[in-house]
Amino acid sequence: MSETTTLSPADRCDICGAQAYVIVKLESGELLFCGHHGKVNKEKLEPIMVEWQDKTDLISQ
Ligand SMILES: [Zn+2]
Repeated sequence: MSETTTLSPADRCDICGAQAYVIVKLESGELLFCGHHGKVNKEKLEPIMVEWQDKTDLISQ
């Protein structure tokens, strides 16, 4: 079992404040993004991220 961080409705995108569905772990800390901003920033963060957790499959719409 790998360790996963769970997101709650209180977790918000660092950019737009929408509910966060993506957790990006960096050497220096953690970033939270909504589905949209996760996608937008993934390429940029890929070289420096330690871990990428995408919870967008939990979005029920
Ligand atoms: Zn966002």
